[in-house]
Amino acid sequence: MQSLERTIRGTVLFDEPMARHTSYRVGGPADVFIVPADIDDLAAAVGILHERGVAVFILGRGTNLLVRDGGIRGCVVSMEEITKIERTDPEVVSAGAGAAIMEVVNRCMEWSLTGLEKLAGIPGSMGGAVVMNAGAHGAYMDSVVNAATMLGPDGTVYEKTRDQLGLGYRSSKLGGAEIILDVRLSLGSGDREEISQVVTEKLAWRRDRQPLSLPSAGSVFKNPPGMPAGRVIAELGFKGTRVGGAEVSELHANFIVNRGGARAVDILSLIDRIVLKARDERGIELEPEIKIIGED
Ligand SMILES: Cc1cc2nc3c(=O)[nH]c(=O)nc-3n(C[C@H](O)[C@H](O)[C@H](O)COP(=O)(O)OP(=O)(O)OC[C@H]3O[C@@H](n4cnc5c(N)ncnc54)[C@H](O)[C@@H]3O)c2cc1C
Repeated sequence: MQSLERTIRGTVLFDEPMARHTSYRVGGPADVFIVPADIDDLAAAVGILHERGVAVFILGRGTNLLVRDGGIRGCVVSMEEITKIERTDPEVVSAGAGAAIMEVVNRCMEWSLTGLEKLAGIPGSMGGAVVMNAGAHGAYMDSVVNAATMLGPDGTVYEKTRDQLGLGYRSSKLGGAEIILDVRLSLGSGDREEISQVVTEKLAWRRDRQPLSLPSAGSVFKNPPGMPAGRVIAELGFKGTRVGGAEVSELHANFIVNRGGARAVDILSLIDRIVLKARDERGIELEPEIKIIGED
């Protein structure tokens, strides 16, 4: 790990609490936590980590993650400095994997490019948005992503087309050792005022329906066929149910919020209770949308 500190220009931290890097404000320490300064720095760091057989976890903005209380063995690599956004063709935008979705939405709006505006308010990064095929209001990343530049575990850089990314409902064929470096979006030319109106509406929609003042990772469960998961959870009577510092939101039952001092084990306990009751009383299999990682 000292060679990592000597080689990379970015930040290297040890025993770094993941609670500082997740929107849940929950999660034990990562053995090593690095923030590469740019893509060359990232490639150098990943090369050293693979050479030494250190497990690597790629972090976007940590808004879809529940990190267990024992933390993460190995190295977490944060993409937060890889944020360049460019208009490479009249209707094509290239965004660094660490760029915030909202930043890209705003730039597209300035350029009068339409396609991404319904995702306004999703708090993740572009890389995380591709891995999760993030979306809202019927618009998903798969409708705008054209291709992504990837860094493989052996240090090679290559392209993946939208088909190769394999985007499905809150899923993709990614999540292994491949790292998304940047994402190319195919957009349409639109009217800036109309795009801006959609952005304003979608942000207001979230403020009214989501508990945005409390830490969360958004919707915990994927929607089962035919019904929103939030309705199932509300009908099972879970709204307001609390374990430790974790609570099923009164405003949106598919959100579990951190009311202060929640541990991952509190959130996991609520998840288990909801899964069991949905299965027993409704015959519905609820599947987590959030990624649960790390050690107990
Ligand atoms: C209040 C709130 C509202 C939300 N609303 C929505 C919504 O409406 N729709 C929706 O779809 N989601 C929503 N989310 C969930 C979340 O914001 C999205 O899933 C988002 O796309 C996750 O991005 P991230 O950068 O935070 O990813 P992270 O949580 O950091 O990571 C998610 C996964 O992606 C992987 N990953 C991240 N970056 C890379 C990369 N560069 N290369 C390879 N793998 C990578 C990680 O390893 C991990 O497996 C919401 C979350 C919150 C807190």
